[in-house]
This record gives sequence, C-alpha cells and structure tokens, in this order.
Amino acid sequence: MDTIETIDVIKCPDCESISYLSYQELYDDEWISLQCNCLTCKAKFQINYRAVGIDIIGPDREQREIKRQLRKIFLDLLKRDRDLRIKYDQLIDSECEENKLKEIVKYLLNEYSPAFEDKLLPGREEKEKYLADAIQVLYEIDP
Ligand SMILES: [Zn+2]
Repeated sequence: MDTIETIDVIKCPDCESISYLSYQELYDDEWISLQCNCLTCKAKFQINYRAVGIDIIGPDREQREIKRQLRKIFLDLLKRDRDLRIKYDQLIDSECEENKLKEIVKYLLNEYSPAFEDKLLPGREEKEKYLADAIQVLYEIDP
C-alpha cells in the first residue's frame, strides 16, 4: 500500500492561515481535490484528498446494512444450492412475480434458518419482508 501523507490542520501554503473557503471540487478515480481561496491573503490553493473508503449515510443506513447482509447470504447459498438456483431462475422468468418471491423467501427461512439467525437481523416476519426486498433488488440489478 502507498504511504499517504496525512495533514492534521490544513493551512494556507502562503500565509498559514486556517481560514479559507472552498469554491470547487474536482475528482477522478483516486483523488478528490478541493479548490480553495484563503480568506486572509486571498491566495488560491488546492487540497488533495485520497478516497479511502465509502460509506452510506442517511436515516435508512441500518436497513440497508441488513439488506446488504441478507443479499450476501442469499448469493452465497445460490452458488451452493441447486434447488434454490432453479427457484431463482423461475423467479426471473416470472419477472419477479410476488408469489414466486414469497416461495423463495419461505424456502430460505425454512431450509437455512441458522444462516439467517444473526443478531443484527430482525424477527421472522420482518426478516421475510427484508429478504424479499433484498432479492428483489438483486433481480433489478441483474435480471
Ligand atoms: Zn493565505
């Protein structure tokens, strides 16, 4: 891994003032650059950030995390269980018909109950709803 120079406090390279305003943001695959204007000496300078992570923000963060985890479990089982694969193919053929979706969810929770027992996950009824949502999202991404 490359070493990244970390800076605690960003100061104007000209006068070392810490008051500045950013007026534009530029980015590519790796870097995010903030164009800045020093409020003390009016010098223009640029702060370069390296993207080190991506995170979900917002009120439904927890729900998305639950769905993400359910999708992961589902995809893992899909690779290993032929019956599940057949059911999923049928779901795709039906263009995600609600009955077929319910059937898969029921099958998963009956056959693989322990796989869905993580303490992060909600109770059975809610879990059915989340799991249906998670599978539906998968279908929408990759029908
Ligand atoms: Zn300055």
